[in-house]
Parts: sequence; C-alpha cells; structure tokens
Amino acid sequence: MTTPEALELVSGERMRRDLFLLSSAPLPFRTVRYTRPGSSVCSLREVDGMVASCLVEAGFRVSETRQRVQAFRCDRGKPLHHWYARPEPTDPWYDAFNVEGAREGRDLPGEIIQLVSHKDSMSWIDSPGALDNGVGTVANMELARVLAKVPLRRTVRILFCNEEHTPWTSRAAAESAARRGDHILAVLNQDSLTGKSDRDAAQGRRTHAVAYSTEEGRALAHLLKRLHDAADIGLDLTLVHKERVNDDDGMFIQAGFRTTVMNVGSFPYADSQYHLEGDRPERVDIDNLVRSARLVLAAVLALDAEGEAALRPQG
Ligand SMILES: [Zn+2]
Repeated sequence: MTTPEALELVSGERMRRDLFLLSSAPLPFRTVRYTRPGSSVCSLREVDGMVASCLVEAGFRVSETRQRVQAFRCDRGKPLHHWYARPEPTDPWYDAFNVEGAREGRDLPGEIIQLVSHKDSMSWIDSPGALDNGVGTVANMELARVLAKVPLRRTVRILFCNEEHTPWTSRAAAESAARRGDHILAVLNQDSLTGKSDRDAAQGRRTHAVAYSTEEGRALAHLLKRLHDAADIGLDLTLVHKERVNDDDGMFIQAGFRTTVMNVGSFPYADSQYHLEGDRPERVDIDNLVRSARLVLAAVLALDAEGEAALRPQG
C-alpha cells in the first residue's frame, strides 16, 4: 500500500462515532470519580476496555499497568481554564491504568515509534473533555485500525495514559521505557488536536501545531512539515517551540527520549472552552481531525520505512 492510499483510509465517521461514545453517550466523562448507573467500574476504566478492544482488533498486543492516582481538587478562584488544585494526601486514591498497544515490526522490531495520548477527562470538573483529549484518543485508535492494514518494518507502540488526574501516568511509562533501554525513534503526543480559537473556528481554519521542546524534536517537527506539504494534507500548519517541558511529551523528554513532539490544535492553546464544562463533541471539527490524523500517520509511515534517516534534513 502506498502512503497516499493509507492516508485515505483514515475515517472521520469512525472518529466521530468514537468521540461521541467517549464524551457524550454512554460516557459523559472519563474519570475515576464518575461511574455510570449500572456499571461496576468507573468511566475511565470503561474507556480502557474500549481502547483495548480496538487495539486487539487491530492486531496489537495490549498491556496494562496499574497506577494509584488522585483526582484534582477544584478551585474556581483560580484563573479560568486552570481551576485544578493539588489534592490533599488524605483525599481518596484510585486505580488508574496505562493501556498500551504494541505491534512488532518484521525487520527491526527493536526500533520503536511511540504514539501517546491521554484518555482521561478533567477530574476536577464535569467536562466531556471532547477536545481535551477525546480527539487525541480517537485519533490514536483510528491510527491503530489503519496501521492494521500496513505491514510494519519497525515496532509501533500506542500509549493511552492519564493526564487530568495526578500523578500523570505517562511519567511511569516513559521511565519504564528508559529503564528497559528501549530504542524509541520518535514520540508523537496527540493532545487536543483541532482545538482552536473561536475566531479560527469561525473562519473555518483547519489548524494544527507541532510543538517541540528540543533540537531533536525540531527535526521531527520539520519532518512533519515536509510530509504535510508533500502529501498536500491541507492543514494550517505551524511549528512552534514549546519552552516548558511538560504534558505527556515532556514526560518522555525528561526520561531521555528527546525526539519528541506534541501535536495540538493551537499553541498557545486557544480553545475558549479549554478545561470547562463546554468542551463538547459537537464543537469538534471532524474534517480538521481527519487531516491531523493523516499527518501523524504520514510520520509513522515515514519513520517506519526509513528509520532515523527520515529525520535528517533533506536536500
Ligand atoms: Zn487538559
């Protein structure tokens, strides 16, 4: 299969369906604190089941790692969008899980392309978290399905972690990878794809920012730009330097995996409903999401075909 053929397989319909399942019905939230009537597990654990069955169907080997987390407290006196507040040690602790899918490459299984997205919604308010980060979750699920149809030379891993509870579970995953000495070629974190300002939304702009915090991440961002232009993906694409090494990509950088970027709808993040109850799935620009997912897929395919050589500047 050629890259353009693979990119065509990305389905907006499937992503829309998954997005509403995860941020409307049956799951209005994805937290340790909310359990649906009649369910025996919390809504975040229900997400784990949906993600795992998607991965298994796509031929990925699934592993789960348990971690103790707390919900953030809510402080509405803090600035809008930033109401999360540190819990007290005596606040309840819950089980949360990293769910990871892996498909081993045929030729170079030791070389790993790592995709990441946090799957939880805000633990301090009742927000559907459609953009943050339903979209990254469903994009990575869709990439698993498309990759099922592609023979892989190298290994692709997809981590679904938790970043709206504390501590962030991506840190444990990144540190385990470092302890094992994993050879990770690149880390691509999908968080809040297509999230943009009301003005950009009104103008119909299909935005995508690739944010990098290291020199190696900058090379990866430039690969994405080259692939975007070559495949005519049609995004309003910006490459931006992200000063603060944070978010799930930052956890990988801190663990030593420096060829890392965050794919995000805008940077600085400009969604008016960021971390608010209004972050609903109806607001998500699915056409934008299809193009953003295609861009990430193009990067996976290039890294799978060429390995580190894909990251060298061309010409
Ligand atoms: Zn968030």
